[in-house]
Formats: sequence, structure tokens, C-alpha cells
Amino acid sequence: MEKFISDLKQTVNGAVKKSGELIELTKIKMAAADTKNSIQDKFTKLGELTYLAAKGEDMPAADIETIVTEIDELKQTLTEQEAKAAELGGKKICPHCDKALNAEFSFCPACGNPMEDIETFVD
Ligand SMILES: [Zn+2]
Repeated sequence: MEKFISDLKQTVNGAVKKSGELIELTKIKMAAADTKNSIQDKFTKLGELTYLAAKGEDMPAADIETIVTEIDELKQTLTEQEAKAAELGGKKICPHCDKALNAEFSFCPACGNPMEDIETFVD
């Protein structure tokens, strides 16, 4: 009976851990989608500024530089979020082309490079 209870506890703990990871994965995917939207907004803003510049409107150059820096930062954030999402989803990221792959792949189907030299995120 003792063993049965301890087995049961382990099963329950495992299930809790799994659903916790699933919630975490959903959260990180939503955060990544937000980051993508922010990047898109910045590109739109950049387009407006470029339009104004082309029309010879008065426009501070610093604005463009600021937005470019912000886009770079957001892209960095997005890369980190996607790597985290891949990790939680039992995937790994190809170091050559940054594609998220199933952890059991030996070669990246996207770029053909071998995967054995990279860290896997699977237990
Ligand atoms: Zn690749």
C-alpha cells in the first residue's frame, strides 16, 4: 500500500509538472506573438518615417535610430522566447539555421547539418 501511494504521488507530480510546462509553453508562445506584433508595429512606424523623409518633411533622424535599436532588441527577445518555447516543447534549435526541430533528429531537415554537436533539451 505504501508503495502504491508513493507511485501514485509520483504519477500525480509528473502530471502536475507536465501541465505546468504546457501552461508555460502557452505563455511563452503568446509572449513571442506579442513580440512579433511589436516588431511589426516598429516596422510600420519606420515606414511612416521613411515616407515623411522622402517627402522632405521635418523629421528627427534620431527617431529612426531609436526604432532600429528597438527592433534589434525585440528580435533578440523573440529569439530567446522561441528557444524557450522549443525547449518546453521538447525540441531543439538548429545552431546553423535556428529552426526548431524534433529532439530525435540527427540531421536538420532544413539545412542538412548534423545535430549531434548541440545540446538537446529533452530529459
Ligand atoms: Zn538547420
